[in-house]
Amino acid sequence: MVETRRITGGRLAIATHNPGKLAEIAELLRPYGVETIGAAVLGLPEPEETGATFEANAQLKALAAARASGLPALADDSGLAVGVLGGAPGIYSARWAGPNKDFAAAMQRVERELVGKPDRRAMFVAVLALAWPDGHVQFFRGEVRGTLVFPPRGARGFGYDPIFVPEGGKETFGEMAPAAKHAISHRARAFAKLVAACFGAAA
Ligand code: IMP
Repeated sequence: MVETRRITGGRLAIATHNPGKLAEIAELLRPYGVETIGAAVLGLPEPEETGATFEANAQLKALAAARASGLPALADDSGLAVGVLGGAPGIYSARWAGPNKDFAAAMQRVERELVGKPDRRAMFVAVLALAWPDGHVQFFRGEVRGTLVFPPRGARGFGYDPIFVPEGGKETFGEMAPAAKHAISHRARAFAKLVAACFGAAA
């Protein structure tokens, strides 16, 4: 079994250049006495996401940040996986929106690719990779299952939220109150696993 390392206070590099993501992660980890430092402040480059899985991409970002900073580092990778499309857009979720981050176009592409395919089941996936400068890495995966609806509904959230209705719900993530989404989201589930493993009661 892979050794589970815990985080015992101190500093943690966050391998993201996205200020929104950094603020959210800092907020989540503050109760555990961890000081989070963003990739921009550390002067870390943004590595190209060349991996074939969420895990591979999260790992390459986390390891690059850990090695460059000398600190443990946390990175995430996430996306929408549509079963009948073989898991697409998956790791290409951001790339389907193009350089202008046009998610209306990305959602239209999902709709087009689903023509003639009645199965609308999909899931959001988030993978967190926590890496240390010596190369040790551990992963935490969160998933939320649901159904895709067209046309998109709701102006809240981001990305593919307006076409995703979580299992057991009626509203899309784009219509739901942010707190309701955050209570069940793939990211929340991945973070709950990280917190349990790294800050929970010692085994
Ligand atoms: P990342 O920042 O490389 O992990 O890119 C993730 C991409 O997946 C985002 O640009 C969104 O397109 C999509 N995505 C991930 N999580 C969500 C979510 O909670 N709602 C909507 N889209 C999401």
